[in-house]
Amino acid sequence: MPGSVLDLFSIGVGPSSSHTLGPMRAARHFASGLETSGALRGCSRVCCMLYGSLALTGRGHCTDKAILAGLSGRCAEEIAPGELAAIEAEARASQELLLAGEHRCGFDMDADLQFRTGELLPAHSNGMRFQAFDDGGRNLAESIYYSVGGGFVVDGDGRPIDVEGGAGAAQYPYLSGEMLVSAARERGIRIADLVWEWERGLRGEEETMARLLRIAAVMDGCIDSGLHAEGHLPGGLGVRRRAPAMYQRLIEVASDPNVEPAGGEAMDWLSVYAIAVNEENAAMGRVVSAPTNGAAGIIPSVLRYYLRHMANFASDEARKRDTAEFLMVAGAIGILYKVGASLSAAEVGCQGEVGVACSMAAGALASVMGGTNAQVENAAEIGMEHNLGLTCDPIGGLVQIPCIERNSMGAVKAVNAARLALYSDGIHVVSLDSVIATMRRTGEDMSRRYKETSLGGLAVAVTVPEC
Ligand code: SF4
Repeated sequence: MPGSVLDLFSIGVGPSSSHTLGPMRAARHFASGLETSGALRGCSRVCCMLYGSLALTGRGHCTDKAILAGLSGRCAEEIAPGELAAIEAEARASQELLLAGEHRCGFDMDADLQFRTGELLPAHSNGMRFQAFDDGGRNLAESIYYSVGGGFVVDGDGRPIDVEGGAGAAQYPYLSGEMLVSAARERGIRIADLVWEWERGLRGEEETMARLLRIAAVMDGCIDSGLHAEGHLPGGLGVRRRAPAMYQRLIEVASDPNVEPAGGEAMDWLSVYAIAVNEENAAMGRVVSAPTNGAAGIIPSVLRYYLRHMANFASDEARKRDTAEFLMVAGAIGILYKVGASLSAAEVGCQGEVGVACSMAAGALASVMGGTNAQVENAAEIGMEHNLGLTCDPIGGLVQIPCIERNSMGAVKAVNAARLALYSDGIHVVSLDSVIATMRRTGEDMSRRYKETSLGGLAVAVTVPEC
């Protein structure tokens, strides 16, 4: 259970929150546990086994590299883009790891990092088991973790690790759409103000605002990097980055008075921003999970589109206020899915990634555009309603096809959802809570082939060479 809406936005590197960020956190937690228990110095070898979806798509999602980084004591926010590959190269060459950043121990990548593709651990498809041994082969420690989506990790007993304030933190109170809307109604305030009250109670106004603006700045930086990075994405699919050329064309059209606008500029800007982020994500660049890495382009795209193309701010303060409001409302909606359904494509398919990001962005946009609480709830509901059933079938286990374009679709859909809600009075037939429950049930009914296993759908329509 997240204690804060900020837990929905983790700064890290691509390409996946469940398969890169989560395993890195789990591995780091295991290594620091060795240190705490005093077992670190006696450890001569560590071993990690990956199960289920992590085993099936872990290579394409850089799970192996992330595990090495985590065991080495590195955390995602500090790791530089491109560093994961360097950590792996060093471990392969030396057959060693600097465990928890302090103690050298043996590590044979091929023998000690095992992809157990035919096996599952009981609680979730994204299971990991870590073991540490002394030089006599005696087992010093063993832990199970599950990466349950959006970078969230629980241990073998279901206890969360690495959430704000730790497992004993105050419980975030608004766990359903109804709770959120009725609490705001009773107080006569907006959803955004309700969330702000909770967050500032956790860490004070100044720090809360600073953290929200930092998240927004990293999102914006990611868009800018993606708009200017040319070339092909790694992984062997031969996908060419398209954001830079698209961006150049949009700039030319916008600045040339002789060119008649074609009428689809809003969609084009939303698309280019979303694609820029997801190309950066696929290239292991600096990304904010929002709420996952695979769906990381939607919220930054809609936020930037709102700030630069829709709003007119009288002051920088007003701009900062809307930025913070957008992220807080988006996070509050994301928590409803985390609690009522799942953010894990391995559990519910792409509904839990692109669907949730679309819903979050739609509600957030409706809020900053002045929507009532009912309209915000309606926008979030529409954002998910038209993503129900969305499968996860990434080609080659890479977060590229269909993921990159899917973010562009999600961003456009989010704006449409917000606009539809703002044209209505907020009264609607399907509630946000109903659509969240439907999303969960649809995920339960979905074949495992479409839950981030690359065993069905587009993933088997194209053969990808092993890289
Ligand atoms: S298809 Fe969707 S859920 Fe699956 S990896 Fe791509 S973005 Fe994530």
